[in-house]
Amino acid sequence: MRSVVTGGAGFLGSHLVDRLLSEGHDVVVLDNLITGSLDNLSHLKGDPRLEFIEGDIADPIHVDGPVAFVFNFASPASPDDFKNYPIKVMKAGGIGTLHALGLAKAKGAKFMMASTSEVYGDPLVSPQPETYWGNVNPIGPRAVYDEAKRYSEALTMAYRHAHGVDTRIARFFNTFGPRMRLSDGRVVPNFVKQALLGEPITIYGDGSQTRSFGYYSDIIEGVYRLAISDYQEPVNLGTQEERTILEFAQAVIKAVGSTSEIVYLPAALDDPKQRRPDTTRAKTILGWEPVVPIEVGLAETIEFFRGKLVELGKLSA
Ligand code: UDP
Repeated sequence: MRSVVTGGAGFLGSHLVDRLLSEGHDVVVLDNLITGSLDNLSHLKGDPRLEFIEGDIADPIHVDGPVAFVFNFASPASPDDFKNYPIKVMKAGGIGTLHALGLAKAKGAKFMMASTSEVYGDPLVSPQPETYWGNVNPIGPRAVYDEAKRYSEALTMAYRHAHGVDTRIARFFNTFGPRMRLSDGRVVPNFVKQALLGEPITIYGDGSQTRSFGYYSDIIEGVYRLAISDYQEPVNLGTQEERTILEFAQAVIKAVGSTSEIVYLPAALDDPKQRRPDTTRAKTILGWEPVVPIEVGLAETIEFFRGKLVELGKLSA
């Protein structure tokens, strides 16, 4: 079994690579290293089953030899990235997905699209089932990601119907854990870094907006189960446990034992007010449910970021 993981040097992509190797796959990683990092694969250095190709999926993809599965996980994914790399985000989801699907078609491989809860936009129903079509501002600051992922889902279905490619669509809700970028601007790295350094915790808006934080190991388990299933409709992967951002800030302060104060900054434009998956489908079809309590995942993540800050000389060991 030989799999291609686009974005395989990223946070989720690299954890998927680990899982595939442990399941006996050979893995080809394609990554342009804009937001991914070879650090995420450094523990695999010298493993002959892993091949790394530095390249952008917005350029035509060439992979020699047989490929059984293409996992399309490449895209900058944080709201700061949407600001910093808007065209790259759209190219990754649009042209990149076209290329990844083309590769799957040419190789007769199965294909999985890493999609997102962002397809639901600022949802007007809660929790969000896969049958909800969403509430997306097509010209707002998040549109580059939301619309690229919506397009990528449509394209995935088009390849399934027009070319018979055997496709899967996973919709990830907020996912956290080791290998997130310390400075990607997202709430988990921001709050943990601020708490560890004793800096103010920056809440955007009044902190009443909600998110559901899934731990990477649970999410990757769901990805693997979906991959080996024959289910072709989108599947939400995330946790039902919903927290306000204020509650999350307090949880981080407590877990770190920090003295940081909370400060309130202006709300981000088009920031979804609520986000929580309906995971009935994953449970029914895949027998999947998250098992890692948020406090356990948070503790591991704090240790990871503590190590990063020590490496950078910002914290003493
Ligand atoms: N957020 C915040 N302070 C930060 C970073 C993020 O209050 O320093 C909020 C953000 O406004 C959003 C939530 O945390 O409501 C999650 O943001 P994130 O960037 O992690 O991802 P999103 O779920 O919005 O894609």
